[in-house]
Amino acid sequence: MDYEIIDQIGKGSYGVIYKVKLGTQIQVLKEISLKNLSLKQQNEAYREAQIMHTLNHPNIVSYYNSQLRRDKLNIFMEYCEDDLYNYICRNPSPGENQVWLWTTQLLEGLEYLHSQKIMHRDIKPNNILMRNNVLKISDLGVSKSLVSTQQLQTTKVGTPLYLAPELIRNRPYDSKIDIWALGCVLYFICQGDPPFSGSNVISLGYNIVNKCPKPINSKYSKRLQSLIFKLLNKVPEFRPTATQALQQIREDNDQKIKP
Ligand code: ADP
Ligand code: MG
Repeated sequence: MDYEIIDQIGKGSYGVIYKVKLGTQIQVLKEISLKNLSLKQQNEAYREAQIMHTLNHPNIVSYYNSQLRRDKLNIFMEYCEDDLYNYICRNPSPGENQVWLWTTQLLEGLEYLHSQKIMHRDIKPNNILMRNNVLKISDLGVSKSLVSTQQLQTTKVGTPLYLAPELIRNRPYDSKIDIWALGCVLYFICQGDPPFSGSNVISLGYNIVNKCPKPINSKYSKRLQSLIFKLLNKVPEFRPTATQALQQIREDNDQKIKP
């Protein structure tokens, strides 16, 4: 497979992200250097390629191919112009309708992942990419297939800012950790700041487990604010699944159209 590197667009934790040209097509190459990785990390890298290979959904970044070249694992995927973190930093406080569109897209992406028995485990604005204003979940590097494992996992992963309370409390967890992280992402979209912070990891963890986030800007409807806070319920069982949240949104929309 011959490709031409156009630009380096990012630096991943395990490697470099390039914009590349294959024939006439623009793609993204995630080049993972296996050389300095432990066996466990190498397996994680392979898993990302394997999991992406099985997925096909408009709100998940498309996978094209992967190859092993000497000590490098190359993953080729769909090119997206932007990521949500950078987009919101440049264009803060988007309009209500925009937020609802994105909310639905992200819920549909998560509904699909969870229906395939995959937990993402690292949902955050940097891992959500944007193409023609459509959001796509990406970076399945630490995602986990639930097929061959127990329903409830007990290892710790993810980005501290978006970690669910049950992870901090070292409790068993399931796909509801992605719903919590989505709540954090939606809060970030509206506020430009994550719902929880702290001067160090300990105080961040304390705040996530015990505190209520600051209210959301009142320019957003009560309905939107209430959805976000439902996703941020400290008790995982009380958070809706992606399917339940989507159903609620559709019911509310039908209600609004009725005379
Ligand atoms: P890591 O596993 O190290 O977090 P990511 O896959 O999240 O790596 O990529 C890091 C950054 O590179 C992303 O936050 C994004 O800005 C950029 N990036 C990754 N994949 C793409 C893509 N398909 N299209 C455009 N930019 C991308
Ligand atoms: Mg990432």
